[in-house]
Amino acid sequence: MEELSLTTVAGTRDILPEEMPCWHLIEDRARRIFSQYGFLEIRTPLLESTELFARGIGGDTDIVGKEMYTFLDQSGKSITLRPEATASVVRAYVQHAMYRTGGMTKLYYLGPMFRHEKKQKGRWRQFYQVGAEVIGSGHPAVEAEVIEMVMRFVASLGINAGLKVNSVGDRNCRPAYLDLLRHEISRYLPQLCPDCRRRAETNPLRVFDCKTESCQIHIGKLPLIADHLCGDCADHFRRVQGYLQDAGISYEVVPRLVRGLDYYVRTAFEIVSGELGSQNALAGGGRYDGLSEVLGGPATEAFGFAIGLDRMVMLLSQEASSAWLTKPDVVVVHLGEAAFSRAWEVTRELRRQGWTCFMEFSGGSLKSQMRMANRIQASHVLIIGENELSKGQYPIKRLSDSQQWEVSLDELISYLKSTNAPALPGSKSVERSLLD
Ligand code: AMP
Repeated sequence: MEELSLTTVAGTRDILPEEMPCWHLIEDRARRIFSQYGFLEIRTPLLESTELFARGIGGDTDIVGKEMYTFLDQSGKSITLRPEATASVVRAYVQHAMYRTGGMTKLYYLGPMFRHEKKQKGRWRQFYQVGAEVIGSGHPAVEAEVIEMVMRFVASLGINAGLKVNSVGDRNCRPAYLDLLRHEISRYLPQLCPDCRRRAETNPLRVFDCKTESCQIHIGKLPLIADHLCGDCADHFRRVQGYLQDAGISYEVVPRLVRGLDYYVRTAFEIVSGELGSQNALAGGGRYDGLSEVLGGPATEAFGFAIGLDRMVMLLSQEASSAWLTKPDVVVVHLGEAAFSRAWEVTRELRRQGWTCFMEFSGGSLKSQMRMANRIQASHVLIIGENELSKGQYPIKRLSDSQQWEVSLDELISYLKSTNAPALPGSKSVERSLLD
């Protein structure tokens, strides 16, 4: 019989428990910092109609043209696993008429995205992003504020990163620039790689993204959007930079910075880290004033970004995340059959009172249970043997300094309270009402 070998699909992976503290740390930090800036969380489905992305991202982009996981469902409707979340968030904004409240709508999201990309280090087919969108304001200070928030988020995790900004113009000035760009590219067309030749037709701005060595010399001669911005776009970009300076944020203007999605106008930005290697982009974002209209909503100005969590995890130091590990307050060690029931009762009581508590059901020797307590970095070990049962007094050992003394259950709880607050509030009443 053929041997069964079921493993993860190429480009996807299991995130194992050892890595989870990093993820929890990053996700918690994002939630705290983003809510400090007034963002509320939104969760949109992983499945969306294919048309949402075809319209919202643009048919000529790599994402829509080559990378989407698309299938027909049982009713014959074309469904896509979301490759990014901005289109979904704006769809939700329109669908739930969030614009009715007026002013800015500030939303953030967190979750997996799916793109069938070439596999390489730091590039996955299922990857995770956290992102935020401000819908309903065209003010350049919004951009500086959002960029400040991402930079704080990144810095708060000890990650060094640089900010690159550019303006990609708008519906007034970009069409004429694109005509000029197409014309200029056509002069070098035979020397360019097949991807560039295709982009020259479909999405000429993307030619600037080309990494092919032989194309670079020609790309270097192409006209830059910065020299063709209309007065309003140039003024907007100047103001964004002024606000960034006011906020004390260093940045580099990179005139060849373009974004992969069609809907960007005016400000585009990227956050990069040299420690990531060839896939050095940590976050990307920009202004997308036309998207709501494209998706059937009112004309609405908007600005947002997405940051790659997989890459943040790669950059996070081990120490930063190990502090986040949930370490048990107490491991209850039990020796003998009669001690088992008491140990389990004590474990449940400690958890009801809010403490993180663990016991090894299959028991084993004192030595092996102590070894387990050390491995999972418990703070204390409570030892329940047959002799202790009648006394109601149990030896407790503090693992940080190996000090040992005897306590009753009530004394243990008072002692734990004196050392730190329980991770959860005591939940006796909740548990009762669940059991009733
Ligand atoms: P984008 O949505 O393409 O602007 O990407 C924003 C950020 O998401 C990037 O800067 C990366 O950090 C991350 N990202 C995008 N695509 C991938 C991928 N295939 N694998 C891992 N991270 C990704």
